[in-house]
Amino acid sequence: MTELERKRDRAPIPAEWAYAPAPESREVVTLRERYGHFIGGEWVEPKETYVTIEPASEEPLAEVGQATDAEVEQAVAAARAAYENGWSSLAGSERAKYLFRIARILQERSREFAVLESLNGGKPIRESRDVDLPLAAAHFFYYAGWADKLEYAFPNRKPKPLGVAGQIIPWNFPLLMLAWKLAPALAAGNTVVLKPAETTPLSALLFCDVLRQAELPAGVVNIMTGDGRAGAALVKSEVDKVAFTGSTEVGKAIARELAGTGKKLTLELGGKAANVIFDDAALDQAVEGIVNGIYFNQGHVCCAGSRLLVQESVYEDVIAKLKRRLTTLRVGDPLDKNTDVGAINSKAQLEKIQELVQSGEEEGAAIYQPPCRLPEKGYWFVPTVFTDVAQSYRIAQEEIFGPVLSVLTFRTPDEAVEKANNTPYGLSAGVWTEKGSRILSMAQRLRAGVIWANTYNRFDPASPFGGYKESGFGREGGLHGLEPYLDFE
Ligand code: NAP
Ligand code: MG
Repeated sequence: MTELERKRDRAPIPAEWAYAPAPESREVVTLRERYGHFIGGEWVEPKETYVTIEPASEEPLAEVGQATDAEVEQAVAAARAAYENGWSSLAGSERAKYLFRIARILQERSREFAVLESLNGGKPIRESRDVDLPLAAAHFFYYAGWADKLEYAFPNRKPKPLGVAGQIIPWNFPLLMLAWKLAPALAAGNTVVLKPAETTPLSALLFCDVLRQAELPAGVVNIMTGDGRAGAALVKSEVDKVAFTGSTEVGKAIARELAGTGKKLTLELGGKAANVIFDDAALDQAVEGIVNGIYFNQGHVCCAGSRLLVQESVYEDVIAKLKRRLTTLRVGDPLDKNTDVGAINSKAQLEKIQELVQSGEEEGAAIYQPPCRLPEKGYWFVPTVFTDVAQSYRIAQEEIFGPVLSVLTFRTPDEAVEKANNTPYGLSAGVWTEKGSRILSMAQRLRAGVIWANTYNRFDPASPFGGYKESGFGREGGLHGLEPYLDFE
């Protein structure tokens, strides 16, 4: 037996590092018992409410409003009034000042927001602290810079704001998605009504405090909470534009609803991204990229690298390295600074993941899960890898939106492209190879809006993000992200 084969034979070694608990204090966050809707710069007492919880413990955090149709109308009317009474005619340089202020306040209060984001959403504090918060502030900084330069961004096209934007965001990056939506809309001179997801309303509600601190004129941003009914009411209301991020199913329903109304629409929907590993790639780096691609934010990521395509000649090496790496992932308390994988966002999402994983086993894939002790309360799922996956299996076709990776193999670049594009989605993809020319040719042939090379899940406010096919249309980020909030002569 060669040295290499002996290494391969070795069973994965469970981590023996003993970490002391390192929880971030939750004292920095002061929650109210009950929140209303933030309309016209005031808190409006809600007619109906529900309780939002901490998914890691199932403990209640606060009572929040479930917006009624009348409350949605009230929010839209407040946004319309703010648009007509000054915001749309304000000089771009003045709008920019507010956006800069919001960015700076987010930076100053980032610890408070990071803790709240992890409490209400279940994501590890390491991620909310190092990814969500810095990127959210960066989006406001970036679009603040464009607010007084729209004429230069779109030369000879006379850009004008649209009016009132209705924005609906998901629960996987609550504050970051808020920033992606609000910053370009406000920079372009629109006013906004935003609805956060049912399970993660709290960072958006805390953000209302930032708006007050920044002295943003009343009604320019209105935030109302509630489940899908509130979202549907917002879509039907007198808004000029709808921006939606979430599931393809709801995105299609919104597209049907808005067809023929003249309202503008952007949809950022699901994905089933291929992460393609060629045999000349730096494999240890690629394994880190695979882990970051699918276990980042518990896999609750629309652009997650959920389909791993490995070239057959390195398949065994990659899988052995990946399995070993999985044994070192720390699953547990989202507020612990050593945690890699936090809680699943909701009971409903956990059930969806469990159902799809069961289908993978029933259809014949081989499942691998590292030894892992999960907390007793709360919603948890062990990081999972499926091998022996056929392209037709549901786990290779459907978005799982959880920490579950499906592995397929290929022999040639052509086969990799064919398999990678064999999906109704087209949001993102990853390519791992040492050859620059191969990166370029793959990037040209993969049908995806974002393609990462030798890295994964990297974001920058200056870089446009968005999909093809059932992943939606319209771009967020960069100059491209301003265009859907402007009218041109
Ligand atoms: P979702 O229902 O599409 O949620 C996205 C947003 O739309 C939420 O604010 C949601 O409110 C709202 N909404 C729901 N029904 C609506 C309607 N009829 N009209 C207008 N707005 C509506 O997605 P989900 O239920 O949270 O998650 C389901 C699946 O969607 C996930 O498993 C995942 O596959 C996918 N997803 C994708 C992304 C992404 O970033 N592309 C993000 C989240 C989820 P509620 O919170 O009350 O549902
Ligand atoms: Mg839903």
